[in-house]
Amino acid sequence: MDNVYAPGKNHLFVPGPVNIPDPVIRAMSRNNEDYRSPAVPALTKILLEDVKKIFKTTTGTPFMIPTTGTGAWESALTNTLSPGDRTVSFLIGQFSLLWIDQQQRLKFNVDVVESEWGQGANLDILASKLAEDTAHTIKAVCIVHNETATGVTNNLAAVRKILDHYGHPALFLVDGVSSICALDFRMDEWGIDVALTGSQKALSLPTGMGIVCASPKALEASKTAKSVRVFFDWNDYLRFYKMGTYWPYTPSIQLLYGLRAALDLIFEEGLDNVIARHNRLGTATRLAVEAWGLKNCTQKEEWFSDTVTAVVVPPYLDSVEIVRRAWQRYNLSLGLGLNKVAGKVFRIGHLGNLNELQLLGCLAGVEMILKDVGYPVKLGSGVAAACAYLQNNIPMIPSRI
Ligand code: PLP
Repeated sequence: MDNVYAPGKNHLFVPGPVNIPDPVIRAMSRNNEDYRSPAVPALTKILLEDVKKIFKTTTGTPFMIPTTGTGAWESALTNTLSPGDRTVSFLIGQFSLLWIDQQQRLKFNVDVVESEWGQGANLDILASKLAEDTAHTIKAVCIVHNETATGVTNNLAAVRKILDHYGHPALFLVDGVSSICALDFRMDEWGIDVALTGSQKALSLPTGMGIVCASPKALEASKTAKSVRVFFDWNDYLRFYKMGTYWPYTPSIQLLYGLRAALDLIFEEGLDNVIARHNRLGTATRLAVEAWGLKNCTQKEEWFSDTVTAVVVPPYLDSVEIVRRAWQRYNLSLGLGLNKVAGKVFRIGHLGNLNELQLLGCLAGVEMILKDVGYPVKLGSGVAAACAYLQNNIPMIPSRI
């Protein structure tokens, strides 16, 4: 029985963990299996090939690790860097802050490039740092592709261009936790050395699997990287890959079958269509926010995120109250503002296996809550703006034409 029952479905609009589609839930509803039997390695082998598609890589080596996004960060860092190594890392919100904190606790020499929350990574500063660094002391550039706390998407192609412009050999490490499988992401084309994601985000799985993908250059770096690592050591995986048994330690059988089902759904829809759907969801949400007369935390269009929108509330309102009311009265889960923007923003997550009409339910709920807390919103205004756009832009469902 539910701990806190409410009729109907919970409208889960936090930016992860997200809704799990029914076919994935069914695929995971199964017993444990012996992961040393021939069946699990056979399943794993195909999964390792298929996850490369969501990173858009043919040359990368993926690791499916029983962990979360935070563990995936640690895997990326400890396998490629040594204590004392200089990294350049962008601080633009809570998740980039936490990654920087991890880098510092792992004893890297972190060159923090800070921007106001709501802005993207300052790439001019990156360019000047790379230009000055003729001795190549910078060993890695670390960037969160999509800052989930503020709804800011960074331009990874531009980062690559700057690295190439200065012929700088630094590794390019990318957190794709709230972008991969939802936003345009091209590991090979953008020369990303380590990319990572977590299962509970756009893959729409339960939490518990971190997927890390390493370029040949990153694998080479792992041979000399001196950071202490045990659980996250890529070498252990690589040994088992060679043996064809794949798992150095026990995988979650249920998550493997869930991942199979999740990838099947993504491939059936088509990754490009998935990305286009997220763009529609993001655009519709932004139109609604505008119609409500509220501000997007993201300051410029070039950084707008198609997976999460952080909505700034007027100073006389507390966004914590909005989030609490959403859950208590409307069975709607919105994301809280974190750290610097706590109380000032609430977040609408629009990622994963989600369609436009589900989003409209959320937008309708937000309107009622805004009215509840005394904001002068015209009921239906945001929903109407979103509908006007969606009605013109939702394509036919390919499998139903
Ligand atoms: N990176 C980003 C961009 C995130 O949004 C999150 C979590 O929301 C994380 C990393 C950390 O992931 P986890 O909570 O799975 O450890």
